[in-house]
Amino acid sequence: MINVTEPFLPPFDEYVSYLSGIWKRNWLTNNGPLLNELELRLKETLGVEHLLVTGNGTLALQIAIKALGLEGEIITTPFSYIATTSSVIWESCQPVFADINEQTFNIDPGEVEKKITSKTTAILTTHVFGNASEVKQLQNIATKHDLKIIYDAAHCFGVKYGNQPIMEYGDINCLSLHATKLFHTIEGGAIVSKSSDLIYRASKMRNFGHHGEGIFDGIGINGKNSEFHAAMGLCNLKYLQDILTSRREQYRYYKDKLSGSQVKFQQLTDEEGYNYSYFPVVFENENTLLKVRKELEDHYIYPRRYFYPSLSCLDYVEKHSTPISDSVSKRVLCLPMFHSLSKEDQDLVVRVILRTLRYKG
Ligand SMILES: *Cc1c(COP(=O)(O)O)cnc(C)c1O
Repeated sequence: MINVTEPFLPPFDEYVSYLSGIWKRNWLTNNGPLLNELELRLKETLGVEHLLVTGNGTLALQIAIKALGLEGEIITTPFSYIATTSSVIWESCQPVFADINEQTFNIDPGEVEKKITSKTTAILTTHVFGNASEVKQLQNIATKHDLKIIYDAAHCFGVKYGNQPIMEYGDINCLSLHATKLFHTIEGGAIVSKSSDLIYRASKMRNFGHHGEGIFDGIGINGKNSEFHAAMGLCNLKYLQDILTSRREQYRYYKDKLSGSQVKFQQLTDEEGYNYSYFPVVFENENTLLKVRKELEDHYIYPRRYFYPSLSCLDYVEKHSTPISDSVSKRVLCLPMFHSLSKEDQDLVVRVILRTLRYKG
């Protein structure tokens, strides 16, 4: 069986070696020493000034919206994971969808500008599959209309844009460190911002609003993570370069083998700085996708329709017309990609796809 992804696991002994320290200290959560160490190492690794580890990426998004005090309308992308939209609604704001660019899959800045009203307070958009958005254009729009920008950077571990960490852009960046992501802490997320003021606010929100014993400064939530999760992160960091290298090779191998067929690839905005976290392919129509998926599944290969459906189709959002996102969502499939995926597995995936396209496409 070949799944779309498999979590990376470090050598068992390396994880266990962290456990004795946890037992000795009997400090299990609440920003213990391993969590602190992880935050420090992540700041160094990602080249960012401030970073807070959270319980997961969704909490990071929710805290980001709260910390910026957003209300009213937030312009967002329909081509993302559901957490991008649900967080907006969870925080009592209204998502307004702007369509995407058909090549990059990222929000189209021209469409964003068309959706701005007097109620708009922010843009919350995703660097889709780790592909950097049009950050400069979006910043110009935000500055002109006095809007905040939150990036859903769930896929962006280690991504650079123009030789800068992608997280240099926007008011707040939210990472997911979930087990299925390129780098993970089992469950986990992170809030990154250049503003020490915002980080200070977010750090209080992460811990119930505590500001010393018995003093509460504003509303908070439990957004913390544990020493056990931090230990997994510290173990995995050691293998980050290996993970990035294998992903790049796998990406190039797929692309090479599938070039010349009818499938289209995501256009990368900065190939040098990319982290090769996903391998999406787009078929001519949904019917072809369904045929390919069926053939793959018959060979025990399980790709993922990701992102599907387009979020503007959710029954709890106001309807917006986003034809490009709707169309890409129906035709995109993410192929298996994970650290231990072998060339033989990739060959099989490619063979089944090409055969299906030849005979049934
Ligand atoms: C994974 C993911 C999230 C949610 O992160 P969790 O850590 O699972 O809560 C949000 N947005 C995108 C784009 C994601 O892929």
